[in-house]
Amino acid sequence: MRRIPHGRTQRLKVFRTIRELEIPKDASIGFVPTMGAFHEGHLSLMRTAKAETDFVVVSLFVNPTQFGQDEDFNRYPRDEERDMQMARSVGIDAIFIPSVEEIYSNSTTVVSVERLSARWEGKSRPGHFDGVATVVAKLFSLVGDCVAYFGMKDFQQCRIVEQMASDLFFPVRLRLLETIRESDGLAMSSRNAYLSPAHRGLAPLLHAQLRSVAEAIRRLEPGSPDIEARLHDARCHLAESGFVVDYFAYVDERTLEPLVVPRVNSRLLAAARLGTTRLIDNEPVL
Ligand code: AMP
Repeated sequence: MRRIPHGRTQRLKVFRTIRELEIPKDASIGFVPTMGAFHEGHLSLMRTAKAETDFVVVSLFVNPTQFGQDEDFNRYPRDEERDMQMARSVGIDAIFIPSVEEIYSNSTTVVSVERLSARWEGKSRPGHFDGVATVVAKLFSLVGDCVAYFGMKDFQQCRIVEQMASDLFFPVRLRLLETIRESDGLAMSSRNAYLSPAHRGLAPLLHAQLRSVAEAIRRLEPGSPDIEARLHDARCHLAESGFVVDYFAYVDERTLEPLVVPRVNSRLLAAARLGTTRLIDNEPVL
């Protein structure tokens, strides 16, 4: 393993085609897949990758196949110059910015992770996780042996990528990192930019409800059947406050199946809309 000496500013290499992509063979590789519009959540993945590996590659690709017909692919925030500047500021070595044509021309293969994709985001956004699994598989193939960094903000996505990488024998080790939040608790997201000032004021309530239900479940007696009532109350409280709740569920972290009694390795998952902006978040319980 070759250590790149500290204190030497490396230039950010920009690769736009697969042909150009040059991944060092004699260094440990950190890989951070993104759709751009960077915020502190992305930067925390990049900084950790930088601290833990020799050569960090970020991919910036707004992946059309993970957006539904009526979703925001066309208006998804894009600012390549700003993103490159931010990547540079945290010392990223290379950024891969392929075109849709580069990734998908003549491509007919779809990677589908069954069961884990069926519920929650998968149910609300049909085809979304096939798009995610397919593009991540393509990117893992291109980058090769690496440590790949993902944010637990998208917890179901983390589990699906974990399963896919293991099922397809990718030489990739996953590092799943904590959600970075605004000071009022709202999980950072590129889509928060869509929120109106009034909705931005309401948005932290989603995480506040997750925290409060998580705490309530932790205080329940083992085997207590009271969980559904707490989930129901949280859904009602959010709806009364102006959210359109998609799901607010208590699940097993491995299978993502709903739980009716408190159990270790469990988590709350939630998605709700404010106006046209869909927020997702989650909270570990036990
Ligand atoms: P995206 O650009 O939204 O596809 O996200 C790229 C990566 O950043 C994914 O692994 C996300 O889970 C992660 N990410 C997005 N928001 C956050 C956040 N608030 N905290 C930590 N990681 C995040």
